[in-house]
Amino acid sequence: LTEELKAFKDPALARGLVESVRAWAPESATLMEVCGTHTVAIARNGIRGLMPEGVRLASGPGCPVCVTSNHDIDKVIALARVPGVTIATFGDMTRVPGSTSSLLAEQAAGRSVEIVYSPLDALRLAQDNPDRQVVFVGVGFETTTPLVAMAVKRAKAAGLRNFTVYGAHKNMPGALEAIINDPQLKVDALILPGHVSTIIGVEPYRFLAEKYGIPGVITGFEPVDVLQGIAMIMRQLHEGRADIEIAYARGVMAEGNPVAMAAIDEVFETCTATWRGLGDIPGSGYRIREEFADFDAMRRFAPAIEPTVEHRGCRCGDVLRGIMAPSDCPLFRTVCTPENPVGPCMVSSEGSCAAYFRYY
Ligand code: SF4
Repeated sequence: LTEELKAFKDPALARGLVESVRAWAPESATLMEVCGTHTVAIARNGIRGLMPEGVRLASGPGCPVCVTSNHDIDKVIALARVPGVTIATFGDMTRVPGSTSSLLAEQAAGRSVEIVYSPLDALRLAQDNPDRQVVFVGVGFETTTPLVAMAVKRAKAAGLRNFTVYGAHKNMPGALEAIINDPQLKVDALILPGHVSTIIGVEPYRFLAEKYGIPGVITGFEPVDVLQGIAMIMRQLHEGRADIEIAYARGVMAEGNPVAMAAIDEVFETCTATWRGLGDIPGSGYRIREEFADFDAMRRFAPAIEPTVEHRGCRCGDVLRGIMAPSDCPLFRTVCTPENPVGPCMVSSEGSCAAYFRYY
């Protein structure tokens, strides 16, 4: 297996794929990746610099922490201030600034904030601390949502009264449609996310090719994976085709993972979600269904939320829409650094600004 995986970093294979990209590339094209792990893989492996002149690789709204709106962060901070509540969430989320505070600042002020690695850790935290109300803050796409659904189902089965969820989960296809219709950016093709697609499969992307004539290739995260995905896109553009193809067959099946999708569907229903940069997108979020309302933190605690204020000067919204490179933000590297992040794109290890800071 190790030998097989080595092939995905093989320089000779990579060179061959770069040649194919160059041979098939049109005079100009903008390809967008919509997965934070791809953003990092492209930056770390210098793939942007291998593209022929006229081909632009733009980063889109693929980092779940980054697309979480200030208003969502403010609601989580309001929950953290409810007496008796412990917030359990992923490490990156604690550093994202809301309108006037962050979870890390709330923790420093004496509120209870715990870092967990999965929703099931949060469930355990609730079981081990019956005197605390544990609120799990979930962000992410279909890769994390099934596990949150599982945690809610287990909490219900166990009759747990001190576990709830604040869900800021989103789905990718709705955001892709918003990107395609953005008048400020013309996307010619999409590098589609490997992880999300292991769950949702190919079907939810078909509208890109069928309705908009935009090719998309689902690919993995090693250099050869990414280059193969780009080469397959270039071939489609060269041949004047628009299909949704898989360059990541070792991870993704066309039908996705029906068991995980059923778990999501049992606990959540789709709703309008607010995305940083993209605004309100109908059907692009998940909220807890009525049958599981007891596990919805906002319904249980209904805290007062402070008015939302956007960070002055931060251009994360434009970075997430792909209309601006992080290095074009006036605060990049001067005021805004990973140690002192102004916006979420610099906080998250998968954020475009953090990737640019590290690799360019
Ligand atoms: Fe926001 Fe900082 Fe990125 Fe500028 S560099 S867009 S301030 S996160």
